Amino acid sequence: MLPVVALVGRPNVGKSTLFNRLTRTRDALVADFPGLTRDRKYGQADYDGYQFIVIDTAGVHGDEEGIDKEMASQSLRAIDEADVVLFMVDARDGITSADLGIAKHLRSIGKKAYVVANKIDGIDADAAQADFYELGLGNVYGIAAAHGRGVESLLHKCFTPLLDDYPDMSVARSSTAGDADDEENVETQEDLTHDEIDYDALPLKLAIVGRPNVGKSTLTNRILGEERVVVYDMPGTTRDSIYIPMERDGREYILIDTAGVRRRGKIDETVEKFSVIKTLQAIEDANVVICVLDARETVSDQDLNLIGFALNAGRSIVIAVNKWDGLDSDHKEEIKRELDRRLGFVDFARVHFISALHGSGVGNLFESVLEAYASATQRVGTSKLTRIMEMAAEEHQPPLVRGRRVKLKYAHAGGYNPPRVIIHGNQVNDLPGAYQRYLTNYFRKSLGVMGTPIKIEFRESE
Ligand code: GDP
Ligand code: GDP
Repeated sequence: MLPVVALVGRPNVGKSTLFNRLTRTRDALVADFPGLTRDRKYGQADYDGYQFIVIDTAGVHGDEEGIDKEMASQSLRAIDEADVVLFMVDARDGITSADLGIAKHLRSIGKKAYVVANKIDGIDADAAQADFYELGLGNVYGIAAAHGRGVESLLHKCFTPLLDDYPDMSVARSSTAGDADDEENVETQEDLTHDEIDYDALPLKLAIVGRPNVGKSTLTNRILGEERVVVYDMPGTTRDSIYIPMERDGREYILIDTAGVRRRGKIDETVEKFSVIKTLQAIEDANVVICVLDARETVSDQDLNLIGFALNAGRSIVIAVNKWDGLDSDHKEEIKRELDRRLGFVDFARVHFISALHGSGVGNLFESVLEAYASATQRVGTSKLTRIMEMAAEEHQPPLVRGRRVKLKYAHAGGYNPPRVIIHGNQVNDLPGAYQRYLTNYFRKSLGVMGTPIKIEFRESE
């Protein structure tokens, strides 16, 4: 589980700038689901060794009368879902009435909010910040989102109290810490830990995700069998999924149910049961993600964003195209063509055509789930990886960079789930993207990796 940070504030204070800085190139998920406001953006942030989910709210419109209403419709839900609220103000403008309105609201709900005075570049930061103590929310943190100044210390301040509750959030820090010095020590700490784990004996955490109405609940019920449906209400908030232990062919699974089987039959379902944060958390927590698409709807950007998010998070995925029943063959061909076109970026994921309603194709999903999990956790030694690297270089030699041939020296495993391969050599950081992709595909094919992204990283030898 990762903590959730919401950025709130009136327009133009720099929320998007900070959001983009925190999420960098990662895809943002835009909440364009029915019943939800259109303009909340969700992204996965990986910054200064912290991993978290960040929500960029549309911002309140600075209309004094309407503030409470705007807060309610635009940002309230984001604030509700967040562990940390960053209340952004513009250090150059000083306090505005909109800021006061937001501050009042934040004080009234009693959630921990940090006042962030943005745009302190090129001005007297201390003087500008002093103004904002008047908001009555305690300390004021000066930053320049556009340049990154002050952002690390701000995050450090707000995440330190959360580390106990979210031990996973600083994983990135520990796994990158040893990058520089692991050259001789080829068997990294991660290898040892990985070798000690018997992945087959662990329950496989399987999340079923997708837009509202694609058939997640129907699929969950189908998998569990009617009699296994959990009917009791679990304590928790709308952002919690239900974890359902189950067994299949002698293997243990934990089904992460984002759809909320328990809510079946209730009327106010769509908005209630669906939460982007819940979906993102489920993906983070899963080993394998089944991304459910609706064959009767065109593939939307939201579908692609969800898949992209799962890939960025390094999760293994299986794609289930649901509602495949009752379609004529022309229509089916048309749908397949569209999927080929739009899902090219996940060509390593298995695609299943299923009917959750009638059960057809559901059993086969599990073969791909197991295959993806095995791919993500398989152990490969240094000599085999180095051999594959050498074969790749023999078949297609690395290019010249500044007149010198890039030299690949050896490869070793840098982590699993998703598999990471570290390649050491000379000028490897200058390898063009096309050759990097060639290597990635070569490793993928040679290792028989399906359903999981494979990451190759390069280290300069010296
Ligand atoms: P939002 O409406 O709150 O999402 O604000 P934006 O992120 O779109 O930023 C509004 C304007 O402020 C843009 O023109 C940004 O370039 C500018 N801006 C954002 N951060 C900084 C900063 O740290 N320093 C300066 N000088 N300008 C900034
Ligand atoms: P969720 O919001 O993703 O959990 O979707 P539901 O499982 O609630 O399903 C939404 C609607 O699609 C319901 O009316 C289901 O009966 C219907 N549905 C689900 N799976 C299938 C299927 O395989 N075929 C058909 N024709 N309809 C389905």
